[in-house]
Amino acid sequence: MAAFWSEPDWDEHERVEVVHDRASGLTAIIALHSTHLGPAAGGTRFWHYADPANAMRDALRLSRGMSYKNAMANLPMGGGKAVVLLDKDGRKTESMLHAFGDAVEAMDGRYVTAEDVGATETDMVAIHSRTQHVCGLPADAGDAGGDPGPFTAMGIYHGIKAAVARKLGKDSMQGVRVAIQGCGSVGGGVTKLLAKDGARLTLSDIDEKRAAQMADELGGKAVSPEQAMGTPCDVFSPNALGAILDDAGIAQLDCAIVAGGANNQLARPEHGQMLHDRGILYAPDYVINAGGIINVSYEYLCRREGTPCDINEVRKRIAQIPGRLNEIWAESEKSSRPANEVADAMAQALIGR
Ligand code: NAD
Repeated sequence: MAAFWSEPDWDEHERVEVVHDRASGLTAIIALHSTHLGPAAGGTRFWHYADPANAMRDALRLSRGMSYKNAMANLPMGGGKAVVLLDKDGRKTESMLHAFGDAVEAMDGRYVTAEDVGATETDMVAIHSRTQHVCGLPADAGDAGGDPGPFTAMGIYHGIKAAVARKLGKDSMQGVRVAIQGCGSVGGGVTKLLAKDGARLTLSDIDEKRAAQMADELGGKAVSPEQAMGTPCDVFSPNALGAILDDAGIAQLDCAIVAGGANNQLARPEHGQMLHDRGILYAPDYVINAGGIINVSYEYLCRREGTPCDINEVRKRIAQIPGRLNEIWAESEKSSRPANEVADAMAQALIGR
């Protein structure tokens, strides 16, 4: 246990629960980092972890990230995250989802869940049959809610444009070279928005067929996953895995800007300094990728208050992401500190740490 408390990712979490339900076979971790600003909101990741210690690490890192993300998006929500540990076949059943819903309900509104990797809107509906404290539920046209991916993509699109304006002095994406890593829900959404603006796109995905298909449809070029980070470009946009900005990853970069949706992109905080030293403008991940949580937490709050849940309000709030990024970059320039450090300090002040 001593090793657990000394984990840097522990970071004074308010509460961490390990849930096991023998009947359904559910094993889950629910981590609440901070409820300073409101109920801890953050999605549930369904994943097979070969080593359960990695599940705990993921839950702790991701829930702290949610505290920072929600605070920097001006949401009245704290930060939390859950992981459900799947077996190696990835088996996920209705009874596991119900047992997980019961565990969320037992937290009495201190934790609000939603989709993360491995989760669908249908899963949220099953969880909702046991608790009100869930969002990302199917939404009617014109209402907030549903799959957060397209809203996350919208925020990243705004953030990339802000970075290009700041670093390259361009107010249009026409001809701007963007390399996208990961063409899933978020990366695919960003790609579509940038294609409409005439950006020159290079796409990569471990599902190489998916990248090639998207490049064909939208007029870009596909490269292998190994080539992605070294692609000469103006903007490198990571939308797949975390921890890709490590010593080796940063050494490969041939870009002016890193701006994408993947969570926990920096392997360690000092990698933010390395980007800064190389003169690469970095958009802190939890600031630029807040569009999805802005959407679903608005859905949750409207449902709780019984008020209308207009999607245009969500769009308006997502359009504020560039303002926050510019605040960070301005302070970073003024103080010669890397953007990640500036963002962390701002977020910590907001959550009273
Ligand atoms: P997704 O599963 O829909 O897409 C991920 C894509 O990345 C897949 O196409 C996968 O094949 C590809 N991929 C995986 N490893 C890769 C690699 N090494 N190189 C290239 N491609 C690779 O997931 P998503 O919802 O698009 O999420 C992407 C990232 O954004 C994740 O890090 C997630 O935590 C983060 N994120 C997502 C949301 C959201 O609303 N979905 C919100 C905030 C952050």
